Amino acid sequence: MSAFITSLMPNIITISYFIAIILFILGLKGMSSPVTAKRGVIWAGLGMFLATVVTFGDPEIAHIPLMLIAILIGGGLALYAGKKVKMTDMPQMIALFNGLGGGSAATISAVELLRTTTTNSDALMIITIVGALIGSISFSGSLVAFLKLQGWMKKSWRFYQQKLVNALIFISMITFAIYVVLVPNNLWLLSSLFAISLLLGIAITVPIGGADMPVIISLYNALTGLAVAAEGFALQNPAMIIAGTIVGSAGTLLTQLMARAMNRSITNILFSNFGENTSGSGETTGKMKSMEINDAASMLAYASKIVIVPGYGMAVAQAQHKVWELAKLLLEKNITVKFAIHPVAGRMPGHMNVLLADAGVPYDLIFDLEEINDEFATTDVAIVIGANDVVNPDARNKKDSPIYGMPILNVDKAKNVFAVKRGEGTGFSGVQNPLFFLDNTHMLFGDAQGVASKLIQTVKQF
Ligand code: NDP
Repeated sequence: MSAFITSLMPNIITISYFIAIILFILGLKGMSSPVTAKRGVIWAGLGMFLATVVTFGDPEIAHIPLMLIAILIGGGLALYAGKKVKMTDMPQMIALFNGLGGGSAATISAVELLRTTTTNSDALMIITIVGALIGSISFSGSLVAFLKLQGWMKKSWRFYQQKLVNALIFISMITFAIYVVLVPNNLWLLSSLFAISLLLGIAITVPIGGADMPVIISLYNALTGLAVAAEGFALQNPAMIIAGTIVGSAGTLLTQLMARAMNRSITNILFSNFGENTSGSGETTGKMKSMEINDAASMLAYASKIVIVPGYGMAVAQAQHKVWELAKLLLEKNITVKFAIHPVAGRMPGHMNVLLADAGVPYDLIFDLEEINDEFATTDVAIVIGANDVVNPDARNKKDSPIYGMPILNVDKAKNVFAVKRGEGTGFSGVQNPLFFLDNTHMLFGDAQGVASKLIQTVKQF
């Protein structure tokens, strides 16, 4: 019986990998909408579970206890981190997980390259080396991104002729890679190749402003996918090839999407120090006018249409539950209330959708930029809660603004604007926002959660 099962094992593994791949694809499809996102995560998780479990049946797997220990340590830490991480710390957690994925791919390639014999084909060896390089760059680069987002690396590190130095590191990496193909099985050459690739990941990432980190993480995510796919070829593992390719293409599309929503090119993101050299720039005239909570609440209570625009500050303040409570109160007064979401509001794609879903906001009240932008002209009050760049009219009007060309929510066209923020701080781009100085804008200064709570209490009195 057991011999029969052993003989069937390769087929069982192949079929299970096929099912796992289908689950990955369905999972990814599910994650594309907030309505199905939870289901998508579960499907992708099941796919990964299936792929991991059947791999134990591979007759070439020799170190089952070691694998179990690795799974227990890695899985335990991931479970703990996943439960503990705050929504606002999600980008750095993704950076860390992504970096570890790249590191794993690079480690697999190291083992494969050390096992390489003259019977291995050159093509396979080149693919393995490509996976090694990309995985190592993604590993060290993602770790730097993690340190920056966590606030443990405060400054971006720049020096004279940095791009030239990076180019030289890149050229020496390629030279070593060629040597590794020509002289296989040489530990010194291999170690140098990995060291240079790790150095390149660090060198590329240290000069990039903390503010651009989410795009870089998405780029490294794409690279990790490619590295995994390359190692899939090396191990002749179809699940790794396809899963890696899916991650690679999804990461590439996401990187492009984020860059487009910011109206910037990837090279501009990689080389422009965005958000660090623009601090406070953008002239504005006039003063921000603050408003008493009482007056704001009465305007809200007597409005017929209100649009709420959440941004990064709402995420920082974890104000989504209070914001939804306020919206429910207004809805009960038969006021039309809608939520307007900018594609790059917050610090990761879908950030606001996730927060609003977390608070229980129904999807039919949530509108994308294209769907809602024409409605601001007929809106009595637009409440901008912790958003800044995504509602900056300079992106529409001011050619020399660093954010010129970025599509924005046309909040300034609303009859009245309430802007909830703690003070006069700029947003991610570091530029001043003339919206806050307009005649129809009033500031409700304070932490987003505190202001939302006060509005709830006061609106109840009307
Ligand atoms: P911004 O970063 O432009 O502005 C956030 C505002 O929130 C700040 O002006 C800040 O002002 C305020 N704020 C901070 N903390 C609080 C708090 N506790 N309570 C109330 N307000 C607070 O956010 P947006 O969402 O408008 O824009 C996102 C930016 O991030 C865009 O420029 C986008 O390009 C960029 N980005 C987005 C990515 C994504 O995938 N979503 C990825 C990469 C970049 P103050 O200090 O005065 O309180």
